[in-house]
Amino acid sequence: MHLVPTQEEVVVLLEKTGALRKGHFEYPNGLHSDEYLQVALAMRYFQYQKALSVGLSRLVRANPEIRASVSELSVVAPATGGLPVAYGVCEALRAHQVYWAEQESENEPLHFRQYLEQVPGEKVLLVDDILRSGKKLTEMKRLLESKGAEVVGLAVVVYQPTPRTPDFSPLPFYYLAKLDARYYADSASCDLCRHGVTLEKVWV
Ligand SMILES: [Zn+2]
Repeated sequence: MHLVPTQEEVVVLLEKTGALRKGHFEYPNGLHSDEYLQVALAMRYFQYQKALSVGLSRLVRANPEIRASVSELSVVAPATGGLPVAYGVCEALRAHQVYWAEQESENEPLHFRQYLEQVPGEKVLLVDDILRSGKKLTEMKRLLESKGAEVVGLAVVVYQPTPRTPDFSPLPFYYLAKLDARYYADSASCDLCRHGVTLEKVWV
């Protein structure tokens, strides 16, 4: 595998670990798709966690502004799914610290652990395993900025945009692979439903 894994290498790795699945899936927000990705299944294996997070860190390190402030950089994940990426990127970059947000339930706001406070002007690299709906990353960015932190970049292993994924520009954005699944707004407009393909509901 290359130091920065190619798109094809990432896809092969995701497929062979069962992280990338083909079929007919329904997301909690009602979208139907022909592809589902659960990066945690690939992150079970330490050597893959290492290869993916080190590769991602190399893309981030190419940014001169982030590189200049890396010793003070916080690497922050919006949920536990991003932690294997966050620790791997932090280690490879020699960044300052890692922390993450939590959420009691789907409708509760994101929050940090008690006593975890941002310092004014704190530079934050937001990381996650995947950017799909962008809902949590959007909320996370807003929360960090409301506490005086400065989000300097966004890095994910896989970018799998849906028709509803927000655009984070001009924020520097890094990813190792981009997956273009087919999405349908609902079952009425879904080709797979029409062809009677067995539907699996996915949790996230
Ligand atoms: Zn369908």
